[in-house]
Amino acid sequence: MRPPLIIITGASSGIGAATARLLASHGHPLLLLARRLERLHALQLPDTLCRAVDITDRTAVRQAVAEAEQQFGPADAIINNAGVMLLGKMTQQDPAEWERMLEVNVKGLLNGIHAVLPGMVARRHGTIINVSSIAGRKTFPGHVAYCGSKFAVHAISENLREEVAGHHVRVITIAPGAVETELLGHTSDEAIKQDYQQWKQQMGGVLAAEDVAETIRFAYQQPQRVAIREIVLAATGQQA
Ligand code: NDP
Repeated sequence: MRPPLIIITGASSGIGAATARLLASHGHPLLLLARRLERLHALQLPDTLCRAVDITDRTAVRQAVAEAEQQFGPADAIINNAGVMLLGKMTQQDPAEWERMLEVNVKGLLNGIHAVLPGMVARRHGTIINVSSIAGRKTFPGHVAYCGSKFAVHAISENLREEVAGHHVRVITIAPGAVETELLGHTSDEAIKQDYQQWKQQMGGVLAAEDVAETIRFAYQQPQRVAIREIVLAATGQQA
């Protein structure tokens, strides 16, 4: 029997793209969502539906999920990975930046959950994987709104897990430390960006996106009766 459908949000780069490649190699049909459609197509994965969807658009997320389920059958998992990190000091940061982080990292994640959860509950089967961060467990300078958004991801995951445990739906939180991706590139504060790059160098190199993808695969591929609630991972040299 063919492995079931998995949905990955933010699959156009970094952790999402690495996870898409890995799960496709295990034979899963995929629904890949991000705004940059050409980057999704460039992955050239088999049995994959790519849709240009802004994760903050709840209707578009639901429509894409419905389309994929019609083509490949019910979604067995969603990996809510789409996120932005716009670091800044509250005294200086344009409020539009923290608004965007909350919209994408929190509301976008809820949109992903909302699109698949009723089906999973009805089938008494399914896995929701939320990509949070170590910044969802502890605070860092210049991270006020980002940490706020990722602490929210941790709280949403744990509370949702409690709500759906009785329906046999798993909720898994993945909390990586620093990973080499495009994420930092969107921060507009050049001084903070430089400090962050130095921090990455000081620890002797950060995780690769493939390390996080492998962790997601491991958590997902446990038997359905086993719910790994949270995995925290970081480069061995990351002290914070
Ligand atoms: P990237 O910037 O490489 O990837 C982010 C992904 O999110 C892209 O595919 C991007 O696609 C997508 N995305 C952003 N905004 C939207 C939106 N409005 N709608 C749909 N998709 C969107 O970074 P990472 O791979 O590092 O980030 C993935 C997740 O991992 C994030 O949640 C991040 O917070 C988390 N994380 C990352 C760490 C790191 O050090 N890199 C550490 C801990 C957690 P597009 O622009 O095409 O829409």
